[in-house]
Amino acid sequence: MKTLIFTLFAIHSATVAFCQTNQSMGDCLQEYRFDGKKLLLTDKEWKQRLTPEQYKVLRKAGTEPAFHNEYAENKAEGIYECAGCFLPLYSSTAKYDSGTGWPSFSEPICPENVSYHIDKGFFSTRTEVTCSRCEGHIGHVFDDGPPPTGKRYCMNSAALKFISKE
Ligand SMILES: [Zn+2]
Repeated sequence: MKTLIFTLFAIHSATVAFCQTNQSMGDCLQEYRFDGKKLLLTDKEWKQRLTPEQYKVLRKAGTEPAFHNEYAENKAEGIYECAGCFLPLYSSTAKYDSGTGWPSFSEPICPENVSYHIDKGFFSTRTEVTCSRCEGHIGHVFDDGPPPTGKRYCMNSAALKFISKE
């Protein structure tokens, strides 16, 4: 009996692991993956390269207004790249309507394309999400997202550039 329970548990674990891997790797094409080469520019160079709104969010960790932003309601199929360095960050397949007024995703397109930092505020501690290539601030991640990841990547439209699949 013990062996049977163990076997069932092993099968269950393997299935869960397989589904999770499948789920997170579905959109992560080789060409999308962060290759480890950073794009590090001076503050002056970023100012020249970005619009004032992009600069405020990406380089100064600003937050754009809820609902009054470009991609909160966008339901088109495609890829969301970093507005600073064009590294693919999210796929529309992971986008969902969180009701917050900001574009929300259940996972990044490839796990290594985003980086995490503890953001200690006066009243709360949040997890900041940055682009792995240019280290630009793109938003925060919370634990109240939909299954299977349970994550809500709450992003700023100004930090993203949508590339339609069409
Ligand atoms: Zn970037």
